[in-house]
Amino acid sequence: MARQSEQVLRTLNEKGYEAYWVGGCVRDELLERRVDDMDITTSASPEQVMELFADCIPTGLQHGTVTVRSGGFYFEVTTFRTESEYKDNRRPAAVHFVQDVKEDLQRRDFTMNALAMDRDGNIVDPFSGQLDIQDGRVRCVGSAAERFGEDALRMLRCVRFASVFDFKIAYNTWKGLVRQKDLLQHIAMERVRTEMVKMMAGPHPLRGLELLFRSQALEHVKTPIFMERFNKALMSNMEQLIEENILLRWSMMLIAGHYTKDEADALLRKWTFSNDDRSRINGVLQVEQLIQAVVQEQKDEETLRSEWIVTVLTCGRQATEDWLVIQRLLPTGWRDQEFLHEEQIVVVQCRGAAWSQSMKVHELKDLHITGENVLQLLGRKGGPWLGQLMKYLLRETAIGNIANQHDMLTNEVKRVAADDKA
Ligand code: ATP
Ligand code: MG
Repeated sequence: MARQSEQVLRTLNEKGYEAYWVGGCVRDELLERRVDDMDITTSASPEQVMELFADCIPTGLQHGTVTVRSGGFYFEVTTFRTESEYKDNRRPAAVHFVQDVKEDLQRRDFTMNALAMDRDGNIVDPFSGQLDIQDGRVRCVGSAAERFGEDALRMLRCVRFASVFDFKIAYNTWKGLVRQKDLLQHIAMERVRTEMVKMMAGPHPLRGLELLFRSQALEHVKTPIFMERFNKALMSNMEQLIEENILLRWSMMLIAGHYTKDEADALLRKWTFSNDDRSRINGVLQVEQLIQAVVQEQKDEETLRSEWIVTVLTCGRQATEDWLVIQRLLPTGWRDQEFLHEEQIVVVQCRGAAWSQSMKVHELKDLHITGENVLQLLGRKGGPWLGQLMKYLLRETAIGNIANQHDMLTNEVKRVAADDKA
């Protein structure tokens, strides 16, 4: 990708235009982090860029951005510009194209993001961004109060960068954030979520959460989260959730915030999480709720096993596996409610995976009998009773009380029908 983007810079330079890599990609290069997108800034106007590259898309001409394709990669090429007259604390009303790259860098949020690099590796750094990177510091370009006032999302970007890079925040920048946090109410939840998801998926989510606790910034977004409801101790092992389990950091956080499944679902909906992510995150809370109901009285292991299997059928395999993962990372005894038999939760935690393994069926289509078979067998018309009966057969087969064989299941259907008549 570096080579293909260099070709774009070269083409621009050969026509006499200035051109640089800019922003996040220069910063990430200096931090020796993987670079995902290589943005380019140039003195050429959008029209001049379009003339030079056959393969390009006018992505945002009014903002000066043209997407150029080079060697199979796409690069955003943006004309040097300034921004002015921000509206509603979130977007500029006007942009002006300029001839000096330094003016372009001035509109950017943090010093570490206000860097431009030419093809020879020379870095334009008017705000000492390299020093801030070396010292591990997030610092606004110019006045923090002004920059956060122009676009309130920058406050969450500030926390996200401090968290992901494990950076400190410059004093004035932090002061600006704490003073202006109520402006976050103007930011679309989708943009808030994007920042928070990046923060939570990074290597130091606890650092970011701590900054959010201290600043109380999330209490001011459109759908707020109030930090006093969280038990921080429950989140202390969050960073052990990695790779395919990274989304479960949210489940852990919601558990630590004492959210019920319904509350969590409403929150994630308003935070514009996708259906898939929402159901994955929430699954754990659903399992937790069912398990708490199960262990309110003393039960033998066989009963616990049956109820676990019913939980797997109700919540799905993924949710119960996720619950087991999280349960192991929570401090023991965290529920601290007298009517709960925590010792039984330990049994479920130790045996749950094996119990799940022992299940021969998980859904109706695994059963060696169909609804159609049942209707024929009993000579009855369909209705809600059929669904109930099928669910009963699934549960008994999953637990192992009935073998998953057609004749066994047929006998059970006959027996139940005879019982119903009597
Ligand atoms: P990442 O891509 O890792 O999320 P990034 O800093 O590259 O972080 P992008 O959204 O890709 O973020 O933006 C590219 C560059 O545009 C930034 O480095 C910064 O210079 C500038 N920028 C992005 N968002 C803002 C903003 N809200 N205010 C000012 N400048 C911004
Ligand atoms: Mg980027």
